[in-house]
Amino acid sequence: MSVRRYLAEHALIDSVWTRDVLIEVDASGEIASITANAEAGDAERIAGCVVPGMPNLHSHAFQRAMAGLTEKGGPSHDSFWSWREQMYVFLQRLTPDDIEAIATRLYIEMLEAGYTTVAEFHYLHHDAKGAAYSQAGEISQRLIAAAKTAGIGLTLLPVFYAHSQFGGEPPTAGQRRFIHGVDEFNRLVSDLHAQLAHEPMMRLGIAPHSLRAVTPHELAAIVAHFESLDATGPIHIHAAEQRKEVDDSLSWSGKRPVEWLLEHAMLDSRWCLIHATHMEIDEVNGLAASGAVAGLCPSTEADLGDGFFDAPEFSQPAVRSVSAATATSASILSSNCGCSNMGKGCVRRSATCSPAKPAHRSAKRCIGARQAAARKRLVNASALCKMAIAPTGS
Ligand SMILES: [Zn+2]
Repeated sequence: MSVRRYLAEHALIDSVWTRDVLIEVDASGEIASITANAEAGDAERIAGCVVPGMPNLHSHAFQRAMAGLTEKGGPSHDSFWSWREQMYVFLQRLTPDDIEAIATRLYIEMLEAGYTTVAEFHYLHHDAKGAAYSQAGEISQRLIAAAKTAGIGLTLLPVFYAHSQFGGEPPTAGQRRFIHGVDEFNRLVSDLHAQLAHEPMMRLGIAPHSLRAVTPHELAAIVAHFESLDATGPIHIHAAEQRKEVDDSLSWSGKRPVEWLLEHAMLDSRWCLIHATHMEIDEVNGLAASGAVAGLCPSTEADLGDGFFDAPEFSQPAVRSVSAATATSASILSSNCGCSNMGKGCVRRSATCSPAKPAHRSAKRCIGARQAAARKRLVNASALCKMAIAPTGS
């Protein structure tokens, strides 16, 4: 295949809007050159604005097939917690084949919406009875395969989940597909780290699920192990999404979730706190000063009635436009899919999550990935539809 040439009317290059940008794409589908203020020549003209590919920093892929099952008016006592019970019922039905089909379809949809990399917060590890699959990391492998089929970059975040409540309470029956011991989890992380080292479009992180699901001792143990493999690798955790979670954290430790993490987890730029909805001003400032990312999903937070992240205080005026831009893309994806838990933005106080060089890499991936998406658009769509319309039971 010969080099293809596109002329963008307006393109965002290194955070600057630039006119008449010539983009040359080589035979492999990667961007070979970008030239500003160029002549069109025989290039295909692209009207409007062109931006680099965006990272989606928080996905639970299997939840894509829940779309339409929970986003509806219900009893006034419905909440995040009743939504979670529905999710637990739903996930009992999923086989590895289902999960791979759903993830493949989802990742293609992300590509179509402009995301070129996804951080998969992966907690559905075991079979419906909670038993390990014969192949360790079976579902991780399915997600890796889905990302390859779709052509999207993947940051795989295997989740450590061990408890149902602060203080190390035993997990519930609905959580049995999530559960690991520390040694078992660390072996999974070691195996995946070795495997993904050979995948140029993939990276490994870890995700202690939340302070509800992980004790301080376990948190320290899994972070230390991961640091021994990758001292700069990403660490994601859900934090302070719900007021009840904050109240339970206060009852457990006398500290709010983000307050506790700031005091005990040595947060830095490796960390991403998902939602971080309910914070006092000291927590907002502490989180911003730590360099950690706040991972936001306005659609999820709206659907589940979580509340509002204090973006103006956290972001400060210099980057308010950045948070707005990520929110826009998230909205496009969510409205396309009607899914409650996809399409995430991120906010960092002093920098975006797409600094200039990674953005260029993302743009390179974007072209090739879209080719793959076009080829694979209908992969396993029938399986996904079957799941999406299945009744949930009670
Ligand atoms: Zn989540």
